[in-house]
Amino acid sequence: MDVIPPPLEQLIKELTKLPGIGKITATRLALYILRKPADNALSLAETLSSLHDSIQLCSTCFAFSEHDPCAICSDQRRNHRVICVVEGPGDLLAIEKTSSFHGVYHILHGVISPLEGIGPKELKIKELLERVRDTEVEEVLIATNLTVPGEATGSFLIDNLQQYPVKVTRLACGISMGMDIKYADQHTLARAIAGRQNFS
Ligand SMILES: [Zn+2]
Repeated sequence: MDVIPPPLEQLIKELTKLPGIGKITATRLALYILRKPADNALSLAETLSSLHDSIQLCSTCFAFSEHDPCAICSDQRRNHRVICVVEGPGDLLAIEKTSSFHGVYHILHGVISPLEGIGPKELKIKELLERVRDTEVEEVLIATNLTVPGEATGSFLIDNLQQYPVKVTRLACGISMGMDIKYADQHTLARAIAGRQNFS
């Protein structure tokens, strides 16, 4: 006889696939879901199953969005001539929280990491270069994380953006080496945006 019924075991297995969720946390979450009324589980299941249908990538900045273009890309009050390049959607949210950036974004969806087989082609880099080439962009603010792969990606972007008449800047002081900008406090991140350096 199984100690854990197979359907519960299956749920625990699925939950451990999520980042930061180990077996103990997964078991706790699974038991919590099981103890709550069936309606709650159904609502969670429905939300999960419709997620990929209801959210898409913005075809301009590649942020997750219900609509294409996304809310930021379609906001005419924002400065569409300044593009902030970030690794992922979490970085965009962190910068938005500071309220100190009024341009638009470009999400790379990762960083160059040869060890993991991720090269420029696996990221939205070609799309960024086309965007800079085809639209009226004055400044590209590179806000990749100050980690080794983040820096390598930033340098790659700086090199490739030199061919366009665009100002290239990088997040400045306040963000320390090895830091993930998602976890920077708002004040530090705001200061880094305000003091960005020019690379062009
Ligand atoms: Zn967008």
